[in-house]
Amino acid sequence: MIYGNTKVYTVIGNPVKHSKSPNMHNAAFQSLNINACYVPLEPEGKDLKSICDLIRSGVISGSNVTIPFKESVVEFVDILTDEASMIGSVNTLYSKNGSLIGDNTDGLGFKKSLFSDLGFSPLNKSAIILGAGGAAKAVTAKLCQAELKSLVIFDIDDIKAEELLKHISNFNYKTEVKLISSSDVDVFSDKSDLIVNCTPIGMKDSDPLLVSEDIITSNHWVYDLVYTPPLTKLLFNAKKAGAKVLNGMDMLAYQGAESFSIWESVEPPYEIMKKELSNA
Ligand code: NAP
Repeated sequence: MIYGNTKVYTVIGNPVKHSKSPNMHNAAFQSLNINACYVPLEPEGKDLKSICDLIRSGVISGSNVTIPFKESVVEFVDILTDEASMIGSVNTLYSKNGSLIGDNTDGLGFKKSLFSDLGFSPLNKSAIILGAGGAAKAVTAKLCQAELKSLVIFDIDDIKAEELLKHISNFNYKTEVKLISSSDVDVFSDKSDLIVNCTPIGMKDSDPLLVSEDIITSNHWVYDLVYTPPLTKLLFNAKKAGAKVLNGMDMLAYQGAESFSIWESVEPPYEIMKKELSNA
């Protein structure tokens, strides 16, 4: 039920009406009897700044931020957390002592799911990251922070790939990082222990294969950030080859649970949130 004093949380994106985050967060509020609701907002033009002002003043209690605003929202934030600075983007907003705080829980979501759920250990391991957008920033930050031995990045957009490499080089990570071209994707997928898809490729039936079918073996860990469909072509081939595979559903649930606990200072009902996402 919505009452006069119901707190409002939002997810800001465009388009965002397809987002499953409202299902996950509203189920969490309901299960803990918290008088709050979570709704999608699709800002245009100056709306993003206005929404940030409403969060700063407490009219909106907090928000998630998704494509395409994770980076552009940074200019309206008063304080960036260390995590958001390390990743270089914001996915969680809230107000503290009149200041708008920008945080990022994507990296923690990725880390928990990769290390705990998929059972990957970074020691002396190498990875290939496909895509260099917002999600890849969180993924590479966490892999470098965990002292992965080496990683290579490929994006069809050279500029984005170079920007990501430049961002990573601002931190003194021990991980050896380099960019590769499309012709090297199969070679490095073969050599790497971990393959991570940080592109939207795999959501549509007509999407191409990111890595040739015969490259993946049972020695690989393959993580696809895409979660609809649950088994992309990449994961289907990897599973068939006996590789250890995971889609992006756990990361989504963990990052949502982490935002929830920042806003409400309570233990998030993770299993309920994940079940709601799966059902949605
Ligand atoms: P993004 O900022 O648009 O970045 C995606 C990057 O991949 C773009 O630079 C894109 O280039 C590039 N790309 C497209 N096709 C490619 C290909 N065949 N090979 C190499 N690079 C290619 O998007 P994002 O925010 O990083 O999100 C990426 C995906 O991860 C989305 O599907 C998103 O839903 C998912 N995601 C999942 C979670 C989760 O919790 N599971 C969290 C965040 C994101 P162009 O721009 O030139 O196309």
